Amino acid sequence: MLMDADTTHDLEPAVKTIGARLADAMPGARHTPRAAVERRVMGAMVADPELRAAVFRFVDVRPACADPADLARHLGELLAEAQDSPLARRGAALAGGALTRRPLAHAAAAGVRQMAQRFIIGADARAALPGVEKLWRSGAATTIDLLGEATVTEEEADSYAARCEAALLVLHEASQRWDRRPLLEADGAGPIPRVNLSVKVSALTPLLRALAPERGIAGAEPRLRRLLRVARDTGAHLHVDMESFDTREAITELTLRLLGEPEFADGPSAGIVLQAYLTESPEHLDRLLDWAREHPRAHPLTIRLVKGAYWDHETVEAVQHGWPSPVFSERRACDRNFEALSRRIIDARGIRAAIASHNLRSIAHAAAYADARGRDVEFQVLRGLGDDTLAALLAAGRRTRCYAPVGDLVAGMAYLVRRLLENTSNDSFLRAQAEGVDLTTLLEAP
Ligand SMILES: Cc1cc2nc3c(=O)[nH]c(=O)nc-3n(C[C@H](O)[C@H](O)[C@H](O)COP(=O)(O)OP(=O)(O)OC[C@H]3O[C@@H](n4cnc5c(N)ncnc54)[C@H](O)[C@@H]3O)c2cc1C
Repeated sequence: MLMDADTTHDLEPAVKTIGARLADAMPGARHTPRAAVERRVMGAMVADPELRAAVFRFVDVRPACADPADLARHLGELLAEAQDSPLARRGAALAGGALTRRPLAHAAAAGVRQMAQRFIIGADARAALPGVEKLWRSGAATTIDLLGEATVTEEEADSYAARCEAALLVLHEASQRWDRRPLLEADGAGPIPRVNLSVKVSALTPLLRALAPERGIAGAEPRLRRLLRVARDTGAHLHVDMESFDTREAITELTLRLLGEPEFADGPSAGIVLQAYLTESPEHLDRLLDWAREHPRAHPLTIRLVKGAYWDHETVEAVQHGWPSPVFSERRACDRNFEALSRRIIDARGIRAAIASHNLRSIAHAAAYADARGRDVEFQVLRGLGDDTLAALLAAGRRTRCYAPVGDLVAGMAYLVRRLLENTSNDSFLRAQAEGVDLTTLLEAP
């Protein structure tokens, strides 16, 4: 062992070297015209909050527009509302012109659809196969996420569970034909399944509520149990995503309760998520590691470490209710915690470590630490948002998985809005990188 988990200053030269190499290996979007246009749109949205709001509203109403005339009318109205934005004013003038109205609406609709397609790998599991297989050939594993609207009825929960089950079967059948990829198919803890599905407990029951966690657990339990059985029987990995803080206890309890049953001791491979923006995440990790020690499994529990996707929601909720916020209020504190948790997860026995981030500093830190300790680690990125990061990680020969959403246009638009919000938020690494902040600053210890 080269160092203790607490003495990390020795790690900095390796972090900087790995980070610089990854940055060098990023293809950048500048080479394809379509990507260059997207980058310009993204840049304009970052710089212009009014335009940003108009685009979000347009993405929102886009699936509901009946015909091109309807689309043109909505676009014109939304742009006209953004009075302080010069770009939006120019767009509103075009949207008002008899000759320019329709072409502009068409172009805007096509642009939004193209952007959504960048994030989404297919309308359903079968349509996703070419994309999944292309990634596999390029050396990347995937985890499929079936997008859907909020689940408010038992029928919707059944339908989501059925789509998950169908996806497992479709992927299982197709994966038999894939070429071997030794890096993606085994690590020091044993075989890694080719097929990997991420599921949301809130989609498996309409009853997941903070005030009645046991009702949510009871509602989702039969559907999650069935998915675990299908995953076990087809040799797939099932990953339970983490959602807003008020559901964390129910999601954790349900997942660990089921995985702790003798029925699932030999499989499937499964995982859970730890959110580093939660101030009490170190204690939550204690709980997960204690559980893993007490429940040895044929496939060790995978812990996917993320920062957390609900920062604004958690902050607003806490203010509204007058209770203390569960999340760090400072980005650097969150990043420091992410690094401390990365080291603990990478060091832990009886679990698998997955580091999910697009932040080069956070990734380079985990890679340097895993290298120094001689431990396995998997990196994970989101399709569309983390494409450059994925390319760099693959070039560096790192085990990497791409989180790939599957869904139709309506679900795709809702997902696109969430990702655009993330990409254009003040406190995002990707935004700082896109704005040209220098590499030394980007790789500074938090
Ligand atoms: C493969 C994959 C799977 C994921 N699965 C999940 C999941 O199951 N559940 C989930 O919640 N998220 C999930 N996420 C999203 C993730 O939590 C982050 O939102 C996203 O990855 C951005 O973090 P980053 O490290 O890439 O970027 P960075 O730019 O380094 O960090 C941005 C993040 O910092 C945090 N942050 C922002 N502002 C502040 C502030 N002022 N103070 C403190 N913290 C702040 C937020 O969490 C924000 O998302 C996943 C991400 C990936 C890549």
